[in-house]
Amino acid sequence: MAKKEHVELVPIFDDNYVFILTDDATQKAVAVDPGDAGPVIDFLRAKKLDLAAILLTHHHSDHIGGVGELKAAFDCPVYAPQKNQKQIPVADQWLKEGDSVTCGPWDFTVMELPGHTLGHIAYWNQKHKWLFSGDVIFGLGCGRLFEGTFEQGYESLQRIKKLPPQTLIYCTHEYTKSNLEFCRILTNQDNTPITGDSEALELYANELSNRRELNLPSVPLKLSIEESVNPFLLARDVEQFRYLRELRNRQ
Ligand code: ZN
Ligand code: FE
Repeated sequence: MAKKEHVELVPIFDDNYVFILTDDATQKAVAVDPGDAGPVIDFLRAKKLDLAAILLTHHHSDHIGGVGELKAAFDCPVYAPQKNQKQIPVADQWLKEGDSVTCGPWDFTVMELPGHTLGHIAYWNQKHKWLFSGDVIFGLGCGRLFEGTFEQGYESLQRIKKLPPQTLIYCTHEYTKSNLEFCRILTNQDNTPITGDSEALELYANELSNRRELNLPSVPLKLSIEESVNPFLLARDVEQFRYLRELRNRQ
């Protein structure tokens, strides 16, 4: 028997996922960061789901591009960061740190996680230990700092680390494979300041290649595992984080 409440992944563009939270009992759904509408509408119609809300993490077009069309089709509320009111005029509900949101059967707490953008927020569901984290963290990596400082990017990852270890991280991009290559470069450096658990990284790499062969996503990430292998979570201070981020930017 299928799980009553679950998260489905709809791939869009080259490497984005739109997350569709689905409640089998009520046929209600919530979409996170729908950068494109067509594939999401097709998915919802095929599963006979009613869209109860749209959640947005930040203002980049690959995360919000489909919102207008979805809102017109389903007439649902659109939640977005208060700090991005100007950049996301299509939204109508504004969220800041600590706010609680209820959509269908799900409750979320809003976390402000600046760095990739200044207004970036994540949605935390305590019951299922789901984190919808946009472009803050990726498998074995983290988001580019387009707007925020290194301090902000570092602190945002520290906040994710404080969540329960069984947390499932729903990040928007399938970047894990390319980040693995970065991890390899890093571990082969003589003067690397980051030494993660190399055995854990090999297990991670095996699991990843198995999944990719079957065309399965690497998302959601398990926080307990990322903590032991993701160099950006292993960085001990802002300076190490800055070193890694600058090195990654040059790859
Ligand atoms: Zn982005
Ligand atoms: Fe993105």
